[in-house]
Amino acid sequence: MADVTVRGAGIFGLSVAWACARRGARVRVIDPNGPGAGASGGIVGALAPHTPEAWNDKKQFQFESLVMAQTMWAEVAEVSGQDPGYARLGRVQPLPDDAAIALATRRAETAQALWQGCYHWHIRSADEFAPLVSATAGQVVFDTLSARLHPRRATHALAAALTVLGVEIVAEGRARGEEVWATGTHDLAAMSAALGAPVGNGVKGQAALLEFDARHAPQLYAEGLHIIPHGDGTTAIGSTSERDYADPTGTDALLDDIVARARALCPAMADAPVIARWAGLRPRARSRAPMLGLHPTRSGAFIANGGFKIGFGMAPKVGAVMADLILEGRDTISDSFKPAASLPK
Ligand SMILES: Cc1cc2nc3c(=O)[nH]c(=O)nc-3n(C[C@H](O)[C@H](O)[C@H](O)COP(=O)(O)OP(=O)(O)OC[C@H]3O[C@@H](n4cnc5c(N)ncnc54)[C@H](O)[C@@H]3O)c2cc1C
Repeated sequence: MADVTVRGAGIFGLSVAWACARRGARVRVIDPNGPGAGASGGIVGALAPHTPEAWNDKKQFQFESLVMAQTMWAEVAEVSGQDPGYARLGRVQPLPDDAAIALATRRAETAQALWQGCYHWHIRSADEFAPLVSATAGQVVFDTLSARLHPRRATHALAAALTVLGVEIVAEGRARGEEVWATGTHDLAAMSAALGAPVGNGVKGQAALLEFDARHAPQLYAEGLHIIPHGDGTTAIGSTSERDYADPTGTDALLDDIVARARALCPAMADAPVIARWAGLRPRARSRAPMLGLHPTRSGAFIANGGFKIGFGMAPKVGAVMADLILEGRDTISDSFKPAASLPK
């Protein structure tokens, strides 16, 4: 039985721990702040694909991960007895003009091949998706690949499932066996300091949770905003994207602006009370892609970092490829996801 120590109990660290534990490794997770203390303790939870065109390694990886998510989160729910809030209900995106409709029509065709005929990019009438989408939106794209989960609940459910599998999750302790660093913005800063040049940084995001029950509706993506109905009768709105900030976890008028824009997009939410405001730092690697593989500055260790804006969407496959590498020495990670892609030249 292999020993694996994962540092960091966010979605990347816990997903690596899950994949390794499921394959029989003896796993310990160390995080001084506990599960979900970083970006993974958030509230948005869009598991949404890139557009089905101009295909590349990153899009293929994300596609496979989104497909894997359904099984992974069902297993987590079963093992933990907790609800991660996962449901594949699709995503609606308004089509504002004829050019957008023409583009969506082309993408409907490319989606057929790229999504292997299993998921679809339909053009539909907005009034099918009321009340989340205003009927005045005209036509919309409805894709059947997108899903949602509740990040904070999913992270805690995964931690609970790991505990059932015998994984220790501790605040401190010694590493044993193979060591994986999945400490998000902490390690991006540490690597940047060690190398004397930026390897990545935290990009702040603010989000809000409204008391608005649309639990059976697909998510809405419009004008850069994610509106995500959760299974518990709340609806999340996200997110700001801030490179400069004084307070990484504080919320302010930028969030008020997003909430106002979301209410305008979705008049049914006009009077829904805001019940939570949240902010966190997305770990963004210099390449903007995940950093997976051998750790560039910690000799003999591995790294899983750079989830940036889609860490939850990428996590199932990140866990799988890291377990391939750590437990079997099988490297299936594409060059664009290797740490070297984010290192200073
Ligand atoms: C506002 C917002 C909205 C988002 N929306 C989405 C979305 O809709 N869909 C999506 O897929 N993604 C979304 N993301 C991105 C997603 O949340 C991140 O990509 C993901 O959470 C990153 O996970 P992580 O495990 O790499 O990092 P983190 O969750 O930050 O975890 C890092 C962990 O490392 C721990 N740590 C720090 N130092 C040490 C140390 N020395 N030793 C051990 N542990 C340490 C921390 O306590 C923390 O728990 C969003 C992010 C934000 C901020």
